[in-house]
Amino acid sequence: MDKGNPATISIDTNGSQGAIIEGMVPLICIFCKYVEYIEFDLDLHLYQNHRIDLVKLPIGKGSLETRINYAIEEGRRVGINLRNLNKEAKHKLGFEYIIS
Ligand SMILES: [Zn+2]
Repeated sequence: MDKGNPATISIDTNGSQGAIIEGMVPLICIFCKYVEYIEFDLDLHLYQNHRIDLVKLPIGKGSLETRINYAIEEGRRVGINLRNLNKEAKHKLGFEYIIS
């Protein structure tokens, strides 16, 4: 099997870690700063990567679905706040790629 060219890195703007698209409200994964723009995809990301983190959320007892919804809403809040920051501030927070 061809291992491919390791120098080729494609940046998928629809879910790259740290990629912010100007003019869109990003949904941020509150656990790892993964950036998503589609709620369903963040839901999937949370489910696949952060089940243990979700259980640790300090929101009392609740189903995994409730916890995912909480994390998405928090991520939206972070995204809205982040959108209002200037490029330098975003960069300082670790959001390296700003696509405008
Ligand atoms: Zn994450």
